[in-house]
This record gives sequence, structure tokens and C-alpha cells, in this order.
Amino acid sequence: MRRLRRSESMRALVRETTVEPGDLIYPLFICPGEGVRREVSSMPGVFQLSIDEIVREAEEAASLGLGGLLLFGLPKSKDETGTGAWDENGIVQQGLRALKQSAASKKLVLVGDVCLCEYTSHGHCGIIKEGHDGWDVENDSTLDLLARTAVSQAKAGADVVAPSDMMDGRVAAIRKALDANGCANTPILSYASKFASAFYGPFREAAESAPQFGDRKTYQMDGANLREAMREIDLDLEEGADMILMKPAMPYLDVIRAARERVDVPIGAYQVSGEYAMLQAAFQKGWLDRDRAILESLLGIRRAGADFAVTYFAKDAAKLLG
Ligand SMILES: [Zn+2]
Repeated sequence: MRRLRRSESMRALVRETTVEPGDLIYPLFICPGEGVRREVSSMPGVFQLSIDEIVREAEEAASLGLGGLLLFGLPKSKDETGTGAWDENGIVQQGLRALKQSAASKKLVLVGDVCLCEYTSHGHCGIIKEGHDGWDVENDSTLDLLARTAVSQAKAGADVVAPSDMMDGRVAAIRKALDANGCANTPILSYASKFASAFYGPFREAAESAPQFGDRKTYQMDGANLREAMREIDLDLEEGADMILMKPAMPYLDVIRAARERVDVPIGAYQVSGEYAMLQAAFQKGWLDRDRAILESLLGIRRAGADFAVTYFAKDAAKLLG
């Protein structure tokens, strides 16, 4: 076996899996204001950015050859029903319009995150109702708001909409609304199997979206269930999803592999905030070789079967790949 490992050129010739800048999507958090660049304390190198700063980031992302951007919004104010999510002048919609005017957007796929949790005062991904046995996130009344959010993002310039809420039936509701509103060409990247995970912690600081009570286990999946993840994927595809996104990545590489063997649609995997924060902490301590660990973590995701990765390391990785 060692004959084929003797030089870098030989290893490159027989390499089975690659990571390219074009395989990477860079998440951005858009906040109100101008010239704002506020670092997220649990995610060194990740910032809440005002729209002017987002446009600068997009220019850098395009020059590095990244595949696209995934946009999250931090609205000025929040309410019970997450009005800011579908507001024509919402923060993500404004950001999308600004990005569409930049030359960078021609080289990037702009993906809008479709969810309510960044916009609701309670921080849940849907409408809250009090019932006999306490509060619950209402499924069907939430669908209409998600569909409105997707349409408003598509109209503002999103190339792809990515519902991340995990309500049942949302892909069908979004597809129907997009088609009815002149957005038949906008694809849906559904977070088909999104597990209730401890690794989302730092994101909730970045997006200011922590639930004010309870948790998300009645809509996000139980981390123990691979077969259920396959059912989620089948249902989303039946409802009209064009691509699927798996989340988190590292603790669920077996689920990515199982999805790859089951379906032929493009698969993305989200290297989530906790995966990023964990590696950054080890880098700061000098416990891991930064450059090698970044690329190895992404190689693992690609080898598991993902076509592309959403990662906070997108710019770093692209620079390392040169
Ligand atoms: Zn959400």
C-alpha cells in the first residue's frame, strides 16, 4: 500500500475525495445599522454584520471562489408571530436586495434561511399556542408564515430558500406559495434531517434566537433516530424539495452517508456553530493544528457523502486551498 503514498503528487493522483472552495457555503448574520461588525463571543471570527459589511463579505467570498452565502437576520424588534421574517423590508430582504446589486452576487448562490425563531419574541420556530397540556408550537398555522417568508425572500433576490424550522408539511406549503407568486424557478433546500442538538448553542448567541422557555425537541429530531431521518428526507422530497441539508454534520456523518446511499438529489451538510466553536477553542489552546484540522473536518463531511458544506470556516478553508 505504501508505494502509492510516497510523494504528494502520487497521493494527489490517487485521492478519492476533494474539498473545493465552490463546495462551501458561508453563513452570515445580518443586523441593523451601518458599519457594524460585532464579534460573537463563542464563535471567534464570526460577526453580526450590517448590510454594508455583508456586501463587503460577499465580495471577499466571491473572490475566494466560495459556492454561496446562507443569510440569517437579526431584526430590530421581535414579536409573538415573527412578523420581521416575512416583512418586505425585513433585514434579510434588505440584505438580499443590496447583495443583488453587487457584482459579487453573480458568482455566489444566495440562500435565505427560512424560519421564525430569529424573529419571534419567544424564540421558537413557529406560532405558540396554550393548550390543555401546556404550550405547543402549532404546526399548520405556522406553515402559512413560513411560506410568506420564503416568497418575500425569493422576491427580494434569494436564489434558494432553505426552510430550517422542521414543521411537518412546510416544503409543500412553500413550493405551492412560490409557484403561485411567480417564483417557480426558486429551488428549495430543505433542512430535511435537523436533529435537536447541543451543538447549536453558539449559533443562538450569534442569531439571538435562544428559546425563552422549553426546548425544540417537539419539532427537531431525536439524535438517536436514523430511520426517522430517512422518512423525513423521503417526505421532503415528495413535497418538492430540490436539495436536502443535514444538520449537524460531525456527530451525524453516518446519517449523511445513509442519505447519500438512499437519494440522488444534491445533499448539503451544516458544520454547525458548536463544531466550529469546539475547534476554535482547541486552536486557541494550541491543542490542534488549525490548518490541517479545518480541512480534515470538511473532508470528512465530503467523504460521508455531502456534495457541499455550510461552514463558518468557508473563507479560511478557501484560503488554505489556495
Ligand atoms: Zn428556527
